Amino acid sequence: MSFSSSLLEQAVNEFAKLPGIGKKTALRLVLHLIKQPAEETQFFADTLARMRKEIKFCTKCCNVSDTEVCNICSNISRKKQIVCVVENIRDVIAIESTQQFNGLYHVLGGVISPLDGVGPDQLTIEALLHRIKEDEVEELIFALNPNIQGDTTLFYISKKLKEHPIKITTIARGIAFGGELEYADELTLARSLQNRQPVASYVSMK
Ligand SMILES: [Zn+2]
Repeated sequence: MSFSSSLLEQAVNEFAKLPGIGKKTALRLVLHLIKQPAEETQFFADTLARMRKEIKFCTKCCNVSDTEVCNICSNISRKKQIVCVVENIRDVIAIESTQQFNGLYHVLGGVISPLDGVGPDQLTIEALLHRIKEDEVEELIFALNPNIQGDTTLFYISKKLKEHPIKITTIARGIAFGGELEYADELTLARSLQNRQPVASYVSMK
């Protein structure tokens, strides 16, 4: 791609660094910004810069926040004895959208993945272990992705808590709502059978 302006080229290169954005899409976005009134593009740039500069990570759960402690952790109507452990901030948003969970979260910032060079020390596991003892957490619900890395992380943290009296659960794994049995892989189908639910509890969720 050749450019008649180095300023344009630089902006396209910056946009193309974003995940899922190729050079062509980056060019389309930059050309769109050029067409906008200057003050709107300025506001766009200022919003990004301010977000990056001022955003904080909650000192308790490591979720993004405008304050030292996020609005979930500081909400007194939530049950602080139940902590849902998730991989990233997007998972918090997904679970919050269900409006089915009234406990707190802990954002690990990833999962243990030796192949990608991610070990326990790069995650917020120590902070979680400290918090469990400090806040008298009674139940940890693991809501990690059902894959080897997720399971490794779950086993690692569970092992660390072997001596600690705490209930450790994971979200159910099985057939997705709207899915079809014949297309499910054997592992998923097997787990669905293992994690079967009494019909009464299933109906009461509706
Ligand atoms: Zn928090």
